[in-house]
Amino acid sequence: MSIKFKEVGYTYSPKTPYQYEALKDITVDIDEHKIVAVIGETGSGKSTLVQHINGLLIPMTGTVSINDFIIKANQKKIRDIKKIRKQIGLVFQFPEYQLFEETIERDIMFGPVNFGEKKDVARDLAKKYIKVVGLDKSYLPRSPFDLSGGQKRRVAIAGILALQGHTLILDEPTAGLDPDGEKELIKLFYDLNHKENKTIILVTHNMNHVLMVADEVIVLHNTKIYKKADPITIFRDQQLIAETGIEPPKVYSFLYKLEAAGFDTSKINARSTSELIEQLEQILAKNDKKK
Ligand code: ADP
Ligand code: MG
Repeated sequence: MSIKFKEVGYTYSPKTPYQYEALKDITVDIDEHKIVAVIGETGSGKSTLVQHINGLLIPMTGTVSINDFIIKANQKKIRDIKKIRKQIGLVFQFPEYQLFEETIERDIMFGPVNFGEKKDVARDLAKKYIKVVGLDKSYLPRSPFDLSGGQKRRVAIAGILALQGHTLILDEPTAGLDPDGEKELIKLFYDLNHKENKTIILVTHNMNHVLMVADEVIVLHNTKIYKKADPITIFRDQQLIAETGIEPPKVYSFLYKLEAAGFDTSKINARSTSELIEQLEQILAKNDKKK
């Protein structure tokens, strides 16, 4: 499985007074079985980019290919688009607004049934995936509207997971949750990648999460790809931070200060504050020995 963008451009409301060019000349590969973060300021084109990956938006220039399935610019109808949508699940920003069934069970079953599963199979999938998202089956007969914000979001994610696709796109999945809710969701995505081998495409503003779990980072800036690299390379690039308006993760705002004070941070590759403390302690212990 591979997802490739080649010279993709997209303009909203073309040839109207509202015309807006949201993506320009996007050429990038998204590697399978990885956690790929998509970052950039609000309005940089992140949501527009990811909606091309399951055919929700059709490019206006260039091509998007998913394996040997190619979506060409301005293509009117995509054959077999359902196959792509089943394999590549997209969880929108604030997915809880899309819950609509009377029970949680029926909400989770909706996708699988819509994609041709028998009701019994879909019911079993609901049982399985309610657990995967950290709730239990006692929730199934309840109304989704009685849940907390974080729980609603889990139910919406369970509905997409129940399609059992190989790729999961999450557009700002932790926005508006409390820190514990955020942490639990990020752990869920990490586990889906590490235990079930799913490709995870994560649009987020939380750079601490990006540093913690991403294998690759795509930085969008002013409608274009600014850079794609592993998170440590991205956050070491202080010019990128200055030019793109991205707020660095806590670990790196601290490392920049250490560097400015003349401390050699080149050996540090921490992905969390606890790892940073550990690595700093080791460096300090070595320095003590030398003295
Ligand atoms: P991001 O997700 O990075 O915040 P988006 O992809 O949502 O960015 O939007 C990119 C740009 O396109 C923004 O300037 C936004 O205002 C504009 N845009 C998004 N959706 C529409 C739309 N339906 N019609 C017109 N402009 C849009
Ligand atoms: Mg967005």
